Amino acid sequence: EGFLKTVEARNEDINAFIEINTDEAIRRAEEIDSRIKRGEKTGRLAGLVIGVKSNINVQDFTVSAASKTLENYRGSYDATVIKRMKQEDAVIIGMTNMDEFAAGSSTETSFFGPTDNPAAPGRIPGGSSGGSAAAVAAEMCDIALGSDTGGSIRNPASHCGVMGFKPTYGLVSRQGLLDLAMSLDQIGPLAADVSGIKLALEVISGHDPADPTTIDGAADLEADLKLDEMKFGVVKEFFEVTDDSIDRIIQDKLGVIADEGAEIVELEFSHIDLCLPTYYLINYVEFFSATRKYDGRKYGHRIEDVCGPEVLRRIHMGSYISQKELSGRYYKRALQARSLIRREIQRILRDVDVILGPTVPKLPHSLGEELEPMEMYAYDVLTVIANLAGIPAASMMAGTVKGVPVGLQLQAKPGDDARILAAMREIA
Ligand code: GLN
Repeated sequence: EGFLKTVEARNEDINAFIEINTDEAIRRAEEIDSRIKRGEKTGRLAGLVIGVKSNINVQDFTVSAASKTLENYRGSYDATVIKRMKQEDAVIIGMTNMDEFAAGSSTETSFFGPTDNPAAPGRIPGGSSGGSAAAVAAEMCDIALGSDTGGSIRNPASHCGVMGFKPTYGLVSRQGLLDLAMSLDQIGPLAADVSGIKLALEVISGHDPADPTTIDGAADLEADLKLDEMKFGVVKEFFEVTDDSIDRIIQDKLGVIADEGAEIVELEFSHIDLCLPTYYLINYVEFFSATRKYDGRKYGHRIEDVCGPEVLRRIHMGSYISQKELSGRYYKRALQARSLIRREIQRILRDVDVILGPTVPKLPHSLGEELEPMEMYAYDVLTVIANLAGIPAASMMAGTVKGVPVGLQLQAKPGDDARILAAMREIA
């Protein structure tokens, strides 16, 4: 009831949730409460209130991906992550706002209007999981789920001053997620603290027979490491593309971490220029293919007839690049560049536990300010690497510039999600 009151008081201004199911939330909460009172065993998420990004299937909620294309699509089943959360007695209160089909970094392209940033009112919350980050920042829920294809969990976590975690590719099932680019997408949690992030990951991770790209067995998320046992890498090229004001906040934070006994070494990453072109080429092609099912027959609207300009750009570009005579020139080369990027980041990760640096290279712009596509894409330069390489990455607040939150990004080897969690716990 407390969370619902906050939603009622603040959501009209913030627009973090685009759908709330008050009756169902109260019914679930009461049912769990009465089980607690009877002394029955309850799940690990009992009493926790969850918001879900609108591109993840939840039974009887609208799974619109914030697009007019799917405005009438009601979830007819629960995604694996949702099933697992419900089994542990989570209370799902609603669906959060996002960029249309998760294709953006600002949550301004939603068919349902933009979301405001609760930590820096009047600015974008970041994206594409901007509603999820804003819902956590405004204390409208305990934990929110997001999806991250090129930064969409970490970017809004950074701008809204909360924590966000993109797991190793395959740690969490994508079954029931409307894909943006399936070789890059991962579902992950946003929360105010590390214990919320870890708990959510424990529940949603692990093998899923319905998603053949998931890991075998359960995820190991325990690492009992202290700061003075950890070695962090700092990549100088990441700072060269970052605004000075953000650079300073991150450097200050690194100073504090070093003072507490961690070892910090400098690393070089030579492919920073390749990251955005490689990411967007792959994104366009995979997204184009994912959108062919929205042809108007099953879901009501044909996507090209109703979508916004960014989604249309990706469909056109993806279609163009996919043509046989062009795919060698663009798509195949992007796949080669992806291998280079993956090898290079894995090489520099060999010598350290975690790479630390800025999450987003610039501060969030004001709502309503119009950016060119390339300026928008520039937000993603530091986050796409983890998706291209399939490695785990997270963002937590490092400090603020004139009151605007700035995120510290942590990246580790594939499967080393536990080490990032340990580092977050020790740094927080
Ligand atoms: N901003 C990036 C894009 O527009 C990332 C989106 C995401 O991670 N879903 O593709």
